[in-house]
This record gives sequence, structure tokens and C-alpha cells, in this order.
Amino acid sequence: MIYLDNAATTKTAPEVVEAMLPYFTELYGNASSIYKLGSESKKATIKARETIAQTLGAEPNEIYFTAGGSESDNWALKATFEAYQNKGKHIITSKIEHHAILHTCEYLEKRGAEITYLDVDENGLVDLEQLKKAIRPDTILISIMYANNEIGTIQPIQEIGEIAAEHGILFHTDAVQAYGQLPIRVDELHIDMLSASGHKLNGPKGIGFLYINKKVKIRSFVHGGQQERGRRAGTENVPGIVGLAAAAERAFRIMEEKTKKEIELRDYFISRVQKEIPYAKLNGHPTKRLPNNINFSFEFIEGESMLIMLDMKGICGSSGSACTSGSLDPSHVLLAIGLPHEKAHGSLRLTLSEENTKEEMDLVAEELKQIVDRLRGMSPLWEDFVKKQG
Ligand SMILES: *Cc1c(COP(=O)(O)O)cnc(C)c1O
Repeated sequence: MIYLDNAATTKTAPEVVEAMLPYFTELYGNASSIYKLGSESKKATIKARETIAQTLGAEPNEIYFTAGGSESDNWALKATFEAYQNKGKHIITSKIEHHAILHTCEYLEKRGAEITYLDVDENGLVDLEQLKKAIRPDTILISIMYANNEIGTIQPIQEIGEIAAEHGILFHTDAVQAYGQLPIRVDELHIDMLSASGHKLNGPKGIGFLYINKKVKIRSFVHGGQQERGRRAGTENVPGIVGLAAAAERAFRIMEEKTKKEIELRDYFISRVQKEIPYAKLNGHPTKRLPNNINFSFEFIEGESMLIMLDMKGICGSSGSACTSGSLDPSHVLLAIGLPHEKAHGSLRLTLSEENTKEEMDLVAEELKQIVDRLRGMSPLWEDFVKKQG
């Protein structure tokens, strides 16, 4: 099998599993209990919070553990909307956010929020001038993702942070794809809230965190016990928290080497496709993109068919059409960068890890060439197109 879907989820690193195991088998105490077994769990969560805070240049008491990226996104938006109602009800976001942001915005719109969805250019970048123009006296929050999960485009986060800070507006970023892949300093970037998720950085699923700057007036998200300083109740997921911290520590330790390797493989594969497969368009920014992201649209092809044929060869990828999830709509991200429906449907996302090799990339490129040829060979539209060209 060749796994090229690391934006969907990643393999839990063996050292992460190892770090977690004792907290299932021996050190299973409740972190709130006062006996020794409980205090072991408590100690582990304190250490994990410190580790994660350090990776961001934050303070440990600004890290709130959650059940993952979706929960962190929901919390940031819903709680800000509630807590800052007397200042205003206007939120600025972008058209290419993850559904955890977009669907939460829709939910808030039904409750009186006014949302501006910024356009992006053909590479997926937000326009800073458009952002400035969108700001109103009643704007309470700007939420722009750090890096996009489909096309890999990295936003000008520092500039966005500065604009938000100048106007006294809170800035949240969904950094689920960026955290562990890129260096991030929340203070330098003027980030007030940041979402991250364990399973996107070789950590466990069902655990993540929301960084909340201590100046933010945030509301509780889950009511109950005093966990997470009373803001997110529920017995701590100690193995998950330990695993998340181990994954974060690992990601920052190997970042430089991993990034170098992934960029090499990414650019090698991109140039092969560009040379060897006609009518293929690279989606996303040519340079401001995640080290591991490849996204192409192939004309006259259905993404789903490509995925199925790749799967038959043991290759895992993802496509920009959502047919499998029961919807015929192509990806909102690909539409936002200006692709027509048929091109958005013919897109393929491959996201690498440091475990992939050049041999694998060669094999995938060869298979992909054949698959594209076969699928186009079956397409009446392609036949017409070729006739017109001839
Ligand atoms: C995966 C992802 C999420 C959701 O994270 P979960 O931990 O799966 O809930 C949110 N935003 C982005 C950009 C993602 O890639």
C-alpha cells in the first residue's frame, strides 16, 4: 500500500503509541483524584500542556484540550460570538475554510451573526485589502485558516494578525493542517486563538487543543467539572493528551528534515505530472503551500473514478468531489479558486509523509498516467475534444 492521504489523517507514530500505553494499562487514574495514581495522570497532563505551549510560544494555561479540530473550531467561534455580543455580531472568515468553520458560521447566522466570507484568488490566497475593507465597527472576530487542507495554500497569517490587532479584533486561525508542519509563534503572529488536532500530526484521533490567549474573554464550552479551568468539563483523556504532546514534540523535532524531504518529493512529482500528463492543472499556490500537498485537476476525468482505480493499485488519495459522501457538489475550495464544476470534479489530492519514497512517487506517477489515459479513452467529451484539436 502507498498511503498519500496524510491531510485526511496520519499514522500514529510508534513512539506516540508507546508514550500513551502506560496511561491505559497502569496509570489509569483520574487526574482529579488526590491519591498517587491520580496525581500521576495529573502530572502527565501538566507536562503535556507545557510541551504544547512551548511549541507555540504560549503559556501552559492558554492551552485547552478538546476532542480535536472540529471541536476547537466550534468553541472558538461560538464562544466568541456569545461573549462579545455587546461589541458586535460581525465575523470575517474565508470561503475556503474547513466545514468545521463554515458550518459553524451558518449556525451562528441563524442566531443573528453577520458573516463576511472573503474571496480568495486563483491560488487560494485571501486579499488583505479586501479583508481591511470588510472590517466594520461591530466586527468581533477574524477567523482565517493557517493552511488549506485541500490545496495546501498557506495564508499571510502575520499580516492578517497585524490587521486584526490594529483594529482591536480577535484573530482565530484553524491551524489543523499547519500545526506540526510549520513553525508557529502565536505572539509574533498576533494569534488570539488557534485550533489543532492530534491525528493530523501522527498523534491519536479524538484529541486536539484550542490555544486561547489569556486576554480573550472566552466562555465555557462544556459545562460540568472543573477540568480545563472550568471551561471544558469532562474527565481528561489522559492517554490522548499524552499522545498529543508526544506527537507535537516529535513533529517539531523532525520538522526540518521532514519538510526538506517532503518538498523534494512533492516538487519532483508535480514536475513529472506537468511534463507527462497533458491538460493537468496544479491547484493551490506554487510556493506558499504545505510541504506535503499535491493537488491536480485533470480535464475530462472524474476524480472518483481515479480514486477507485488508484485504490485497486493500493494507492490511497483523495479527490475534490464529494460524491462518496452522498453529495454531488464539488469541493467548495476548488470552486472558490475559480475552477468550473467539471474541473473541480476531476481533481486529485495526494498528501505525503516523511515515510514516502521517490520509488513510490515514480510508481504512482506511472499508474496515474495509465489511469488518466484509460479514463480519457472512455470519455466521449475527450474524444470530441481531441477531434476538434486535430
Ligand atoms: C481535519 C481538519 C479539521 C477537523 O479536525 P478533526 O480533529 O478531524 O475534528 C479542521 N480543520 C482542518 C483544516 C482540518 O484539516
